[in-house]
Amino acid sequence: MTTDRKIESLTKTAQIACKLFLEECKKQNVYIFITETYRSQERQNYLYGIGRTHSLNKKKVTWTKKSVHTNKMAWDIAVSPPNKLYDTKILEQAGSIAKQLNITWGGDWQVVDSVHFQVNKDWKIPMQSKCIPTQNQCTWGQEEINQAMKLNLTTGERLEDYITRKEAIILITRAYNILKKS
Ligand SMILES: [Zn+2]
Repeated sequence: MTTDRKIESLTKTAQIACKLFLEECKKQNVYIFITETYRSQERQNYLYGIGRTHSLNKKKVTWTKKSVHTNKMAWDIAVSPPNKLYDTKILEQAGSIAKQLNITWGGDWQVVDSVHFQVNKDWKIPMQSKCIPTQNQCTWGQEEINQAMKLNLTTGERLEDYITRKEAIILITRAYNILKKS
């Protein structure tokens, strides 16, 4: 009954959500790591028993025998050193990143569980989010990017972000001006 920390043990949907969450945390310098993903019902029952039916000198660690971990759609995190393992501020930052990605954060619950994150089976990458998962990023066309930088079409920043209407208009206008001159 070991602790499973593998992202691959989650459902396909939860894997995408979890990876996106980790990438975004890294991008925003929120250094955390996964402590548990899938949990067998057997292990959940064991955890439920702590402070109740066994390990009576210990504090209770869970309030339920029914956990989204057993459905492979939840993960727990901790804060990377040198910060404290359960640094409240950093867990809150991770929580706010999760919320931007439509991921449910346990820190918002009545029974607060700020290391816990979960999705439901209908979870999708939020379109308004500026986060694009690495697997969707473009790996070709560096020559054109360099050329575009010389032409002042881009500074080379935020290359993997979505484009806004305003940015599209500016780019078209810049390209138009370049063509007009030549
Ligand atoms: Zn959890």
